[in-house]
Amino acid sequence: MPDKSATIRQTDNAVNPLDVSYILHHMNEDALPDHAVSPPIFQTSNFCFSSFAELKAALEDEVGSCLYTRGNNPTVNLVESKIAALEHGEKAKLLGAGVAAISNAVMAFVRQGDHIICVADSYGWMQRLLIYLERFGVSHTIVDGTRIEDIERAIRPESRIIYLESPTSLTFFIQDIPAITAIAKAHGIRTIMDNSWATPIFCNPIDFGVDLVVHSLSKYFGGNSDIIGGVIIGTAEDIDHIVWQESLQLGAVADPIMAWLVMRGMRTLHIRMPVHYKSALAVAQFLENHPRVAGVNYPLLASHPQHELAQRLFRGGSGLFSFRLKTQSVEDVARFVDSLSLFKRAVSWGGYESLVFPEAAHYARSVPVDRLNLIRLHIGLEDVSLLIQDLDRALGRL
Ligand SMILES: *Cc1c(COP(=O)(O)O)cnc(C)c1O
Repeated sequence: MPDKSATIRQTDNAVNPLDVSYILHHMNEDALPDHAVSPPIFQTSNFCFSSFAELKAALEDEVGSCLYTRGNNPTVNLVESKIAALEHGEKAKLLGAGVAAISNAVMAFVRQGDHIICVADSYGWMQRLLIYLERFGVSHTIVDGTRIEDIERAIRPESRIIYLESPTSLTFFIQDIPAITAIAKAHGIRTIMDNSWATPIFCNPIDFGVDLVVHSLSKYFGGNSDIIGGVIIGTAEDIDHIVWQESLQLGAVADPIMAWLVMRGMRTLHIRMPVHYKSALAVAQFLENHPRVAGVNYPLLASHPQHELAQRLFRGGSGLFSFRLKTQSVEDVARFVDSLSLFKRAVSWGGYESLVFPEAAHYARSVPVDRLNLIRLHIGLEDVSLLIQDLDRALGRL
């Protein structure tokens, strides 16, 4: 189903980044029987062939052909080509979770003796992957992503990957992506960036020189808090290498129904993201002026220390950020969190609904003492004045 027109259209940079309708429609029309508006779900594990020669040809191209759904499936491939176009990459691989995208992308390019450089405060399961890889003789260095000189100093002859996540989980520091990718290229090191936060609506890391982009589709792409999925975007050569080296072997398969739900979510991604952004900015501004709040971590807030860099790298921001209460007491944090009525207490983010996640809830899992007052919010699509009222009432209970 993927065709050449996809590759031609994705390089059309004249298109307003927020007007993604050309991608949402691309390639549906030709493929659909009986003028159906929505593409079908190919709920099949297997594909059959009319001759020995056709079967043989499919087997010879297991990375590219619809032979068996662990490798390819028309519904999954359709979504992959849309996401590749949206992220300005040549090719994408959909997988069963964001962590599968991260681990497949990382593991395909390291072997025993190699070294990975990773920014501090990356997603927790990425940090655990680095520890997991020690078992196979792959070492790592964690660096402060805001300090280019620290990243450069961490480079060794055996460094293969610089892993970026911008902004970082919970702390929301951003990295100077073009400066880092320039250094990486000079040393022949591959860069991988988790772009789940900004989505391709607000940032295209490949345009800044990043080699591989990963996303948790469970967040904004799905947009309805009802799926788990992940994707890797990059050059066709890198994606084929990942599929052959890791994905077909490890089997974190994207199922066709999940892929179809991602496609449904994507139709409104460019409508939802500006709403999350506008509301998050309003809530962040309310919080930074509140006497019981010690500070707000949202890179697009004018007072954020990296605001200028954020404006250069992001066309907008998502609904996810954190702030600190003035108190250091876990009891106060619990009282604040329990006083909220519109914000649901939960992990994850990226859906229609507003969520609160206090880092102190991770207390048993070694939360640094100075971060017990850190609260992460996801600002959903509800009326923002009601969300601010809810926060104001809960802060009043402190
Ligand atoms: C949730 C998340 C992931 C992991 O995605 P899953 O779909 O839950 O496996 C990766 N990166 C970031 C930044 C996330 O927030």
